[in-house]
Amino acid sequence: MKIHEYQAKQLFRRYHIPVPAGDIACTPDEATAIARKFEKFPLAVKAQIHAGGRGKGGGVRLAWSFDELAGHAEAILGMNLVTPQTGPEGRLVRRVLIEEGVDILQELYLSLMVDRETACVLVIASGAGGMDIETVAAETPEKIARVPINPLVGIKRHHCRQVAGALDLDESMFVPFCNLLFGLYALFVENDCSLLEINPLIRTAEGNFTALDAKIEIDDSALYRHKDLLAFRDLNEEDPLEIEASKYKLNYINMDGTVGNMVNGAGLAMAVMDTIKLAGAEPANFLDVGGGATAEMIENGFRIILSDPKVRAILINIFGGILRCDVLADGVVAAARKIDVKVPVIVRMEGTNVEEGRDILARSGLSIYTAADMKDAGELVARLAASNGNQYREASNS
Ligand code: GDP
Ligand code: MN
Repeated sequence: MKIHEYQAKQLFRRYHIPVPAGDIACTPDEATAIARKFEKFPLAVKAQIHAGGRGKGGGVRLAWSFDELAGHAEAILGMNLVTPQTGPEGRLVRRVLIEEGVDILQELYLSLMVDRETACVLVIASGAGGMDIETVAAETPEKIARVPINPLVGIKRHHCRQVAGALDLDESMFVPFCNLLFGLYALFVENDCSLLEINPLIRTAEGNFTALDAKIEIDDSALYRHKDLLAFRDLNEEDPLEIEASKYKLNYINMDGTVGNMVNGAGLAMAVMDTIKLAGAEPANFLDVGGGATAEMIENGFRIILSDPKVRAILINIFGGILRCDVLADGVVAAARKIDVKVPVIVRMEGTNVEEGRDILARSGLSIYTAADMKDAGELVARLAASNGNQYREASNS
């Protein structure tokens, strides 16, 4: 789960990580009211969306007067903010963070993430932080340091030493830096974060640090033990189909391609997506209905894929283990009867009660393609999506 910058900064405050004073506004009037509480300019007006690169898209602006502040709030609130991370469709801005302006001595980059390769919390740091960190990473990767922290041992001063060294920090900064990194590590572990990123982290004239930006992602699988963090969820920022799928406990991720697919088991789902790509098509989604899926879950999964307008053909690939093939077939037939299916559907199944399952599909009177093995299924669905998708639509409409 991603959370907004202003929410991440609330968490930072709980762990005594310095952030600029600020408050959230939904209208220009609210923005002005917040500005009146500050005694000086500049103030920063920052769009709150679940995507970075806001500065480059005009979503972060400094104001030097009340008029300018109201103007920025007016311009940013309600704008469709396009940044390198939103895709061309952009994101609607519903809230802005009004924050005291900070003098910048130096912009640093600091992040913590879960590194699956080393099974460690990886600290990534660079003295060349700011809006062009992606260019730094691509062109001068040696300017970015990586320090793994074994979670069984936890963070120690020598880790801080290593990171501070890579950032070329003055000795006088070491104690404040240690406090910062210890606080961030505690926040990261105690809240089951998968990512925590500060870019830029500012070195202040007073010899301390301030997190000017804040990005946090929480591991969804750990949310059950962080009920307080659930309040941070913003459904406006999530994909409507993914929200719908989460209601039925389906593991669904919306993607860019045209081939919808429904599979039981994450490993098999990955293999099916590979098969689709190998056949020259692109998957429209990842959907793992799980080992113990019911006919109702199958029906809901099928309905969610069908309501995605990008989808031009669907491949259902199920290995009948705990989920029996006849249950799957019942679910598919029930869904297909309720919904007007306008794209070709290919079913490939194997395992428990496969004969009964095939029988149910055959007797349904629905035009569902069956495929014997995965390769055939992948090739067929790719071909249908590429050429027949539209023809099929027209034919089945007439
Ligand atoms: P992002 O572009 O989405 O990562 O948004 P950031 O919060 O990182 O803001 C973008 C840039 O705006 C930062 O890298 C800073 O250079 C600048 N910026 C943000 N807030 C302030 C501020 O209070 N004072 C100054 N001088 N610059 C700021
Ligand atoms: Mn940033």
